[in-house]
Amino acid sequence: MAVSDHVNLEQFMQGLKRRNPGETEFHQAVYEVAANVFDYISDKEIYHEMQIFRRMAEPDRVISFRVCWEDDNGNIRVNRGYRVQNNNAIGPYKGGLRFHPSVNQSILKFLAFEQTFKNSLTGLPMGGGKGGSDFNPKGKSDNEIMRFCQSFMTELYRHLGEDTDVPAGDIGVGSREIGYLFGQWKRITNRFTGTLTGKGREYGGSPIRTEATGYGTVYMLQDMLKQAGEDIEGKKVLVSGAGNVATYAIEKINQLGGKVITASDSSGFVHDPHGIDEERLAFLMHLKNVRRGRIEEYAEEFNVDFYEGKRPWQVQADVALPCATQNEISQKEAQTLIKNGIKAVSEGANMPTEQDGIHDFINAKVLFAPSKAANAGGVAISGLEMSQNSARRTWKEEELQDLLRNIMGDIHESCVEYGKADDGYIDYVKGANIAGFIKVADAMIAYGVV
Ligand code: NDP
Repeated sequence: MAVSDHVNLEQFMQGLKRRNPGETEFHQAVYEVAANVFDYISDKEIYHEMQIFRRMAEPDRVISFRVCWEDDNGNIRVNRGYRVQNNNAIGPYKGGLRFHPSVNQSILKFLAFEQTFKNSLTGLPMGGGKGGSDFNPKGKSDNEIMRFCQSFMTELYRHLGEDTDVPAGDIGVGSREIGYLFGQWKRITNRFTGTLTGKGREYGGSPIRTEATGYGTVYMLQDMLKQAGEDIEGKKVLVSGAGNVATYAIEKINQLGGKVITASDSSGFVHDPHGIDEERLAFLMHLKNVRRGRIEEYAEEFNVDFYEGKRPWQVQADVALPCATQNEISQKEAQTLIKNGIKAVSEGANMPTEQDGIHDFINAKVLFAPSKAANAGGVAISGLEMSQNSARRTWKEEELQDLLRNIMGDIHESCVEYGKADDGYIDYVKGANIAGFIKVADAMIAYGVV
């Protein structure tokens, strides 16, 4: 077999940008991993010879389709649906569906690429995929949501299956949407298998799936602090977002003795110096998850400050948990956090910190857990939902709580193994990228040129 030329990182990125014009989020996600992997493989000829990283940065396939549905006024509406099947070297494609007006091919390619490494880190047999639509669920009636989900699945079902591709929820896709999607999949295929995860408990869902991502993000934080001789007790914590990941991260911080002083949504953030304790969290969960209201109502209810159109990163605290969306911590905001003495950042959302902000955190020796490690708890429990569905049984909640804790502990260990610098600082970004890469890369080598 011919030995390839060793392209350097810059040349590789130029080629990637040429082949994927305008897909800036995808470029950003690939660069983040490539920066570490190129260094790691520099003296490992087989990865070059087999063009492994280049193959990883080219999705297995990208499916895009029209989704027509009828609104409550009888108007025909047209959206675009996608599924990016990035890599199935170590298991069926697995990753969430996102319904949000900002969804486009670049965002889904970045998420599917990231998911491949994240799923590998969990130690479970899952490949990487991601999908969704530019459909905006906000302000739609339940019937409109149902009709959209049914139309979306009427096209997507042919690409899915319990051993092929297993979607789950993400932004804008919660238990209501998963119910409609799975109901349609089951109706078309006349089969009942674990082809979606995040299902309701009555029809094959796993205990603790709802809590898993937020809890896992906090477990990662706990392990990083422990490694550095500290713990969560008494720490002041900034959280962004007020959705699934954010609210369960707040719950776990409370259980471990920390105090969360902010939460946000796309309209702004609230600063609550008293702390979002159990009672206030119950209000927030009901407000956002059930009533789908604005976070300003929290400020009114508890008489605290609301900052319209702002993010919480200028508030002084010990720890930051970005749990809303991508690129929500700019470099400038990262610098503000560092100046204010932030000790640790654990990313609950996917890629919430801009590239330069990550470098600043690492240079300042902040403990920084990237999303592919810190928020892997959700997909880990989804993987275990697949196992339960295959075995046609449900495991006990305590068993799953223990498994989640252990998986997050193992991910932390993998990051330490591959990310420890000579001075003892753990570069969790490097650790996660390399640990996630090795397993997928070695499986791809085993298959030859496919
Ligand atoms: P939800 O839809 O439940 O919540 C998202 C939250 O983020 C909402 O509070 C929303 O506010 C806010 N938000 C969304 N977009 C923006 C924006 N552009 N600016 C400011 N705030 C915004 O989603 P999840 O909690 O499930 O997901 C949050 C993040 O975590 C995403 O990055 C997702 O990919 C990631 N993730 C989620 C997993 C899961 O298990 N749910 C698993 C792994 C990663 P508003 O209500 O105003 O829209």
